[in-house]
Amino acid sequence: MKCYVCAREGRSSDAVAICIVCGMGLCREHAIREELEMWEGGYPFPAKRAKAKIPRTLCPECYNALYGK
Ligand SMILES: [Zn+2]
Ligand SMILES: [Zn+2]
Repeated sequence: MKCYVCAREGRSSDAVAICIVCGMGLCREHAIREELEMWEGGYPFPAKRAKAKIPRTLCPECYNALYGK
């Protein structure tokens, strides 16, 4: 899989992660790793609050949508 963000900019990078929200492939440069204990509403999985912090990978677009300025 290729990084979707790079592909849109005309580059080609191998994806090393996948955004858990939209599923797009992300290279190491574009993957945003979040380690929050709990998410607010809209979390795509029917998970209850996790006991441990779970690393989650987001693309820049979803990150902005969730934590946007
Ligand atoms: Zn990229
Ligand atoms: Zn995304």
